[in-house]
Amino acid sequence: MSDCIFCKLANDEIETKVVYADELVCAFEDANPQAPVHVLVVPKKHYQDIADEVPSETIARVFEAANKVAKIKGIDQKGYRLITNKGADAGQSVFHWHVHVLGGKTLGEGLI
Ligand code: AMP
Ligand code: ZN
Repeated sequence: MSDCIFCKLANDEIETKVVYADELVCAFEDANPQAPVHVLVVPKKHYQDIADEVPSETIARVFEAANKVAKIKGIDQKGYRLITNKGADAGQSVFHWHVHVLGGKTLGEGLI
């Protein structure tokens, strides 16, 4: 999608701090980190959110990439949280499906 910021970041049209990339997926640093490690994993192809008929293989590859990001960032042993927001009530602000990888400290116990 031409006016989508995450399409541009994931497809090298805008420079960003890439943590991991392959032919299907890109992971880059969140611009407003909420934890010492805060990386966003996105499919290179545009989907609005997790409910936008994302192919199963793409869903799997995004989560596999999230686990790789945790290893690259050195938080795989102590633990991390994966979050995906869908829609307004969940606080989704960028409408290109993404998974947040959060860690590097003890995170709050609650889901909200
Ligand atoms: P969400 O609220 O789940 O849609 O998450 C959107 C995330 O994208 C937020 O954590 C923002 O800080 C992050 N974000 C927005 N614009 C950029 C950008 N240009 N580069 C990196 N992260 C961004
Ligand atoms: Zn997009």
